[in-house]
Amino acid sequence: MGHVDHGKTSLLDAIRKTNVTLGEAGGITQHIGAYSVDVNGRKITFIDTPGHEAFTSMRARGAKVTDMAILVVAADDGLMPQTIEAISHIKAAGIPMVVAINKMDRPEANPERVKQQLTEHDVLPEEWGGSTICVPISAKTGLGIDRLLEMVLLVADMEELTADPTQPAAGYVIESKIDKGRGVMATVLVRNGTLHVGDYILSGISSGRIRAMMDYNGKSIKEAGPSTPASVLGFSDVPVAGDKAYVVEEKLAKDIIYERKTKLQEEKSNANNGITLEDFLKKSADHEMKVLNIIVKADVNGSSEALKQTLEKIKNDEVEVKVIHAAVGGITEGDVTLAQASDAVIIGFNVRPEAKAKTLAEHNGVEIKNYSVIYDAVDDVTAAINGMLTPKFEEEIIGHVEIRHLFKISSVGTIAGSYVQDGRVERGAKARVLRDNIVVADTEIETLQSGKDQAKEIKAGFECGIKLRGFNDIKVDDIIEVYVMNRI
Ligand code: GDP
Repeated sequence: MGHVDHGKTSLLDAIRKTNVTLGEAGGITQHIGAYSVDVNGRKITFIDTPGHEAFTSMRARGAKVTDMAILVVAADDGLMPQTIEAISHIKAAGIPMVVAINKMDRPEANPERVKQQLTEHDVLPEEWGGSTICVPISAKTGLGIDRLLEMVLLVADMEELTADPTQPAAGYVIESKIDKGRGVMATVLVRNGTLHVGDYILSGISSGRIRAMMDYNGKSIKEAGPSTPASVLGFSDVPVAGDKAYVVEEKLAKDIIYERKTKLQEEKSNANNGITLEDFLKKSADHEMKVLNIIVKADVNGSSEALKQTLEKIKNDEVEVKVIHAAVGGITEGDVTLAQASDAVIIGFNVRPEAKAKTLAEHNGVEIKNYSVIYDAVDDVTAAINGMLTPKFEEEIIGHVEIRHLFKISSVGTIAGSYVQDGRVERGAKARVLRDNIVVADTEIETLQSGKDQAKEIKAGFECGIKLRGFNDIKVDDIIEVYVMNRI
């Protein structure tokens, strides 16, 4: 991943040239958007993410299709808007990254500046005490590429990325299309288990028995193990890029599809899956969410930085604000996709969404809020997170009442002729009945009387009549502990 022109394609080409064994002469070379290379006898599979159809939709589902990202940054240009966006995506996906500082052959190359800029975006290079490995390379001369690949394997080892090839295959569809001659073709990246010709495969609402499989070179294969991309023939319909794919029994697959289709129809009317500040309130009331993710887009860098810093200071005991991406420019489709994938709200400061982004946001229920005064944004976000607090209450004992007489009134129940020992008693207050210091009931003061009159409150030193809600089994000498719950 990386900014346009920083050398992603050149790097992939350079890797392919030295590490990919080409398909047999005359064989149909099938570009399947993913291929494997051999490094010291170990395989690395690359997914061509620049503009890759699957990547956006996978991100939107929060799926983890890659184990690792390589962030390509040109050493002469340094971090650019799309680099920063890529960092946000990588972080949101929770995957490790290796930074390739490219174009080192150029005289203006300044890797130290790149590292400095990375630090500003919370990516701390290893040599500066962080955990991100940065490798200076040149896609043009080939400098550092071997080391880059070794570092990828090293990170894989450190992260203990493993899979079990003996399981039935599970993976993701990364591309799909209809081929005129052959029917539905889907590229499946196996994540765990092994996929075989003859397996019954299910993805979303399409399924089928695998008739044939090809590797990235278009060469026919019988099986594909973990981290292997395979072009699969046999799906009945075109599966959706980004969807999971599993090997299951045919009967089960059909049942699942039936269920999914029914559910889809039900959900058709309200297909929103983004988030609004109001949703966030509801969600957090269920204690699900404790971080409000925000994406900031502003007219100038000063504003985006100021907003980011100010917003990130907003927090209370339960919720904090995290600006997952802040950049200059209009609100793009990429921003909306990122927002959707990370349950974030987009805040625009003196900028407006592009028409396509607006439609996408409306369609997916992603909230975009526009401001031209920083404090308005701060006020709204503060109100949102405070509104989200689960209300907290603290008990306050306001008085004690001693029961001295009982009056049984058939239509009402038992009235306690009482004396307020200390504090006060209020109608509607909570009441615990204590008998020999044991709580025998916890209810509330339903009615309160002073003589024959109804009273709201009786103070210490006075007598009163009390009827407890739902509890008549009181006795002389019981003590009523009167308390209220104060909201804090
Ligand atoms: P992408 O948009 O990130 O895929 O970038 P490309 O791979 O298309 O590269 C953009 C331009 O930078 C092309 O003109 C490449 O020839 C050039 N380029 C890529 N890598 C290097 C490098 O290591 N050194 C130099 N000097 N040029 C490079």
